[in-house]
Amino acid sequence: MSSPVVTVVTPVFNEEAVLPELIARLTALFDGNPGCTWRAVLVDDGSRDQSVAVIRTHVARDPRFELVELSRNFGFQSALSAGLAQAATSDAVITMDADLQDPPEVIPAMVEAWRGGADVVRAVRRSRSESGLRRVGFDAFHRLFGKLTDYPIEPNTGTFGLLGREALATFNSLPERHRFFPGLRAWIGFNTADVSYDRQERAAGQPQQSFKRLVRYALDGLFSFSHLPLRALTYAGIFIAFAGFAAAIFYAARRIIGIETAPTGYTTLVTVVLFLGGVQLIGIGVLGEYLGRVYDEVKRRPNYVVKQPGRTRARDNSGSTT
Ligand code: UDP
Ligand code: MG
Repeated sequence: MSSPVVTVVTPVFNEEAVLPELIARLTALFDGNPGCTWRAVLVDDGSRDQSVAVIRTHVARDPRFELVELSRNFGFQSALSAGLAQAATSDAVITMDADLQDPPEVIPAMVEAWRGGADVVRAVRRSRSESGLRRVGFDAFHRLFGKLTDYPIEPNTGTFGLLGREALATFNSLPERHRFFPGLRAWIGFNTADVSYDRQERAAGQPQQSFKRLVRYALDGLFSFSHLPLRALTYAGIFIAFAGFAAAIFYAARRIIGIETAPTGYTTLVTVVLFLGGVQLIGIGVLGEYLGRVYDEVKRRPNYVVKQPGRTRARDNSGSTT
């Protein structure tokens, strides 16, 4: 493994403002670290701006870069899967956001850790630049996720990291549609090493993932890595059934002994009926979350559709074809 092929996989959605800087910084990284054969796979996730044109122009100039164009916007997780599939023959892949919140300058340290024997390297944030609602949401999600699943993800990690050959092959062979990358990375196991870094502000442009999408990924993470919501329902059902049974005995006993109260209790009844109705609806909702996901999985529709497959290069940068 004298000069391993390391591919940087980056989903791109409406990032025309950051692309020039991204490309420049990746190029600097590639040129400055001749120990690896570098590649970059930029996956266009149905951008509506000039992103594709910018990438295409660069790809024509620098054969280390490659464009995979999806047929529409499939979302970050799907775009990432498309990129990982495209990079399947690499010795290692780096998964990274396009907006430079994940600084490419950390990559050599990850490659170093991988060469030192790690199969999976996670970039761990020393600091985080998000604030406000997103911040609160991220924190709450990590706390809940850590409690609910057997595969807790380190709270300060995101997508940024490295997968070695085996880990990549394993990830690519996972059959599921609802993908939550950090959770799956924790699930596949392997020797994992951490590299710490400072999370940056977005280099330019606006966050492209809507809050709604993030909530959906959070739910995907929870429901695909935990059966606890289902079990909680069972426990709630058992508890409420017991409480109901005890109440029945209590009221029946009072009637038998003769301390019957007048038929008031309208408030109590309304409370009980509404409470039970609520619990049942929540139960149906939770079942629905699982059922919907089961439905999506059995349809076996692909995670993404590629409009323009990237050229796979089984050759080096010298320009000679194999
Ligand atoms: N992204 C994508 N598809 C989308 C939304 C975002 O491929 O539908 C990409 C985006 O271009 C960026 C990465 O996913 O490279 C992270 O997006 P963003 O910075 O908006 O998310 P955040 O930093 O808030 O998690
Ligand atoms: Mg971002």
